[in-house]
This record gives sequence, C-alpha cells and structure tokens, in this order.
Amino acid sequence: MTIDKLLEKTNDYCTPTDQKAIKLAYEFAQNIHKHETRGTGGPYIQHPLKVAYYLAENELDPSTIIGALLHDTEETNPKISSEISKIFGSEVADLVEGVTKLGKIKIKKSWFLPFKFLRSRQEKQLGFQRHLESLRKMLLAMSKDIRVILIKFADRLHNMQTLEGVRPDKQRRIAQETLEIYAPIAHRLGMGKLKGTLEDLSFPYVYPKEYEMTKQLAGKSYQEKEKVCNKAQEIISKVLIENHINSHIDGRKKHLYSLWKKLTQHNNDINKIYDIIAVRIVVDSIEECYKVLGLIHKTWRPLIGRIKDYIAVPKPNGYQSLHTTIFGPDGEILEIQIRTNQMHYNAEYGIAAHWHYAQKNKSAGNVHKGSHLNDKLTWLDELAKWQEAQTDENELLNGLNLDFFKDRIFVFTPQGDIHDLPANSSPVDFAYSIHTEVGNKCIGAKVNGKIVKLDYSLNNGDIVDIITKSQSKPKRDWLRFVKTQRARSKIKSFITKNSLILGK
Ligand code: MN
Repeated sequence: MTIDKLLEKTNDYCTPTDQKAIKLAYEFAQNIHKHETRGTGGPYIQHPLKVAYYLAENELDPSTIIGALLHDTEETNPKISSEISKIFGSEVADLVEGVTKLGKIKIKKSWFLPFKFLRSRQEKQLGFQRHLESLRKMLLAMSKDIRVILIKFADRLHNMQTLEGVRPDKQRRIAQETLEIYAPIAHRLGMGKLKGTLEDLSFPYVYPKEYEMTKQLAGKSYQEKEKVCNKAQEIISKVLIENHINSHIDGRKKHLYSLWKKLTQHNNDINKIYDIIAVRIVVDSIEECYKVLGLIHKTWRPLIGRIKDYIAVPKPNGYQSLHTTIFGPDGEILEIQIRTNQMHYNAEYGIAAHWHYAQKNKSAGNVHKGSHLNDKLTWLDELAKWQEAQTDENELLNGLNLDFFKDRIFVFTPQGDIHDLPANSSPVDFAYSIHTEVGNKCIGAKVNGKIVKLDYSLNNGDIVDIITKSQSKPKRDWLRFVKTQRARSKIKSFITKNSLILGK
C-alpha cells in the first residue's frame, strides 16, 4: 500500500483541500512511526495506510480517513494529541482519541461466556443476558461518534489479516475477542460483509479442528453445488430477460464459520444445509423482487415453509431480502435470495452505508460542517430501533430502556471493568463504586492518562485511574459534588464516626 494509491481512491470523492490534508496526515503518521515495524515485518506505516484504504473503499469522509492514518500515533506518543488538534482540528483529534481509548478497554475474560458449560436454560439465559449487556455497554461507551467504531473495525480487520505476525498465545486471544465481541457488534450494525470476514479470519485460530473439518466438508460440497448453481443462474437469467427485468445474478458461498455453526445444529450432516451456495438476484425495485419470486416459483417448485419475506418483515438488524428454497434443475435443492440494489448495499455495509449516505446528502447541500452527530439517524436511535425489533432478546432485556441509559455513563477502570454511574459523576463517585476504602483514601485521579481534579465531571467511555494514599481521609467538601447515593452516605458516615471518636 502506498499513499498515492490511497489518494487515488479518495480522489473520487474528496476535494483538493481534503487531499492535501490526507497527505499531510500520512507524513505526520509516517514520522511518528518511523522507528516501528509490524509483527509481519515491514514498516509500521503500512498498517494505518491499509486501515485508511479500507475506509476509503467505503467512501468515508476525509476526517475518518485522516483519523485512520493517525489512529495509532497516540499509542506511540501519548503527548501528541494537542498537536493533532492544532494541525487537523478537534474533529480528527476526537476520533483519534476515541480509537486510542477503545484500544485500552480490555475485554474481560468474564465477557466470554462458555455457553457449552452452562447447563440449564436459566443459566444460558443469564449468560446470554450478561453477554448482551457487556456488548451494549461497550456500544454505549463508544456512542459519541460511530466513526470511531468504523476505524476500529478497519483496524481489527487488518490486524486479523496479519495475525500470523503475532505471538501464538496472543493470536488465540485476539481471534476470540474478534469472534465474540467484534463480529457480533458488526452483525448488530448490519455489516454483513465485515462480520463474515472477521468470523472466517478468526475461525482457524479459535477452533482449529472444527475449522479443518468444515473446510473439508465444504470443499466437496462447494464443487457439486457450484455446477447446480451455474445451471440455475443461466436459466433464471434467460427468464428475467424474457420478462424485461434488469438484474445482476451471482452465486454466494456461505462463510465457513456460519456453515460450521449451522452444521452443529444439524448433526454435522451437510446434506441438510441448503444454502451452502445460494443464487443471489439483485434487481432495481421492490415490485420486481416479488415479480422475480413469482417467476422462480413458476419455473421450479418451492419447498414448503422455506419462503421468507424479509422485505415486508426485515430482520432485527435491518436485513432485507426474499428467500426461497426450490427444487432446481435436476431436482437439486437450492436457495435463492432476491433483493434490490439498495438492500444489497445495506446488507453488506450496514450502518456504514447509512452513514455514508447521510454524509453524501449533506454535501449535496454543499456545507460540510461535520454536524452529523445531530443527524436523525443517530447512533442511539439505531440502538433503540434494534431494541424494539429484538424478539427473544427483548424478553431478557425488557428492564433496560434507553431513557435509563441516557442519564448514565459507562466508565472503565484501567483493567477494563465497566462501572455504570449517573451522568456528571466525579472521580470520587467512581472510587466509591470500586470499594469504600478506595473512596475513603482517594487523593486524586487520572482520566485517560491525565491528572484531573476530584470534582471533575466524568464522560462516557473515560478510563479512570484512582490515586490513593493510605493515611488520607474523606473530605466534607466532597459532598458538594458527588452524584451517587453510595458516595454520599459513605462520606457522611465516615465523618460522623470520626467526629464521635474525636468528641467534636
Ligand atoms: Mn492499529
């Protein structure tokens, strides 16, 4: 990857001024990383360049591209953030800071729920709920700007593609984190392509035996199915031309990891899985989708109970398509998916597609202010929509509504523990939420690595490190700014007890 190749890509949709800024960001990052190399060998700058390129392929806005180029600079030089802000503006600086912060959130072991070991239904539900809650908290902690997550995803994608350059014990941990945290989030955001890619990259590291087995099973099956698929495609294409329907038809192979998941539900019998390869038909309009479905059913007999209308009733993550399974040419069973261009794009890119569109529409109105955070399609609205659409999960999460979340912040310990506090809580509230003794002996705090005052107002996603001193005592003055009932009562009771002892 070279800067020229990146600039060639961004040139399609960026102004000359943007292009200059992107080049400047490259030089800036290059200078900071000049003494570093990647685990796979080669200069470090290749990594941010690759990350920026992925995002440019999705035509993400210039600030995101610049943020991607700079995303690891703070990691190398923690003092660089004010300089980034001066040169590239606060929008970029915030993105870089967000990505850096996200990198510091350690995914807790307890977040990985070994479902295998959970026996009862109740245990499973509880495990599931905890897992979802962790995901949700992580999402909310990152909710300031969706682009932070998009950069983080591109970063993770490249790290997974170059995982062979990492120590073996780390490989597995990173792959597991990708499989159990990043892929589900991508799924929730409707980013089907990314989800499938991340899962398949992780699969051999996390479940090596199962990966080999699936690969072998699929290998044979793919070959047989591909022939059937090609034959069906030819016939469909002819029928659609006769009916004057403009279409794009191709075969999509099921991702290996999702094939394995499905195999486990069917006793590893690959003959029970009908969508190893599916024929995908992309047309211009919704009317045509239904028309094509009719033509398919006229040509081949459908399997009962396998016609799914995800256009009228989209999946919880927004996925839309018509699915049907038919007895195809020579009686072979085959799945067919029908959708519009727009649905196809959304299914591949999910929230990134929405975001991209929103941004485009804005620049059509020619002022680019970066005020996308106030767009109707905000991050939280999206979350709310999913939440409404969740069915089985919803039962479990009924108690959590978004209003509750709006007045809460999620703050992290340096070890990655999440603490849920009321908005505008102070480091003292946080200290007491860890342990009474931590609160009582608290003398100061670092937020995201910087020393702050004890009455500092914490923000969503902050990483807070409490400084304690063994002889220190709570101050009455703290009652002025603490927000939690817990901190208030602990401080009061300490003061009362001590004034009794001292006879005051
Ligand atoms: Mn990185």
